[in-house]
Amino acid sequence: MKKELSAFPVGNKNDAYARYFVGQSYLAPLCASPIPTFNVTFEPACRNNWHVHHAGAGGGQLLIVIAGEGWYQEEGKAARRLSVGDVVCIPANVKHWHGAAKDCWFQHLAQEIPGEDTYTEWCEPVSDEQYDALQ
Ligand code: MN
Repeated sequence: MKKELSAFPVGNKNDAYARYFVGQSYLAPLCASPIPTFNVTFEPACRNNWHVHHAGAGGGQLLIVIAGEGWYQEEGKAARRLSVGDVVCIPANVKHWHGAAKDCWFQHLAQEIPGEDTYTEWCEPVSDEQYDALQ
């Protein structure tokens, strides 16, 4: 398994959100304000469940890939392969998931874009069948 991590802190096991992930992830809060920013580290094949960053105005999420290889997918669209330097602008209210490639660790910075009435809705896991079909 390829494991080349960035210089950003890895943080602790992401226990608070473990029930919304398949596999082991780690979470390092980098700053709280004005834009909450985290480093999220995924072990190979780890991914989060389908989810929606809801907002009445503004909101959404920005991902900046800093290590490894991974995936991003919006519902109804083909998955997008991600590698270092890729940026994903996730609009508010769009169902999606993100996570590592099968054979590689993955890290992205995640920024929670401020907005009104923001909350994240966690949905079903990305099934092994869906995940294993990615290429
Ligand atoms: Mn997201």
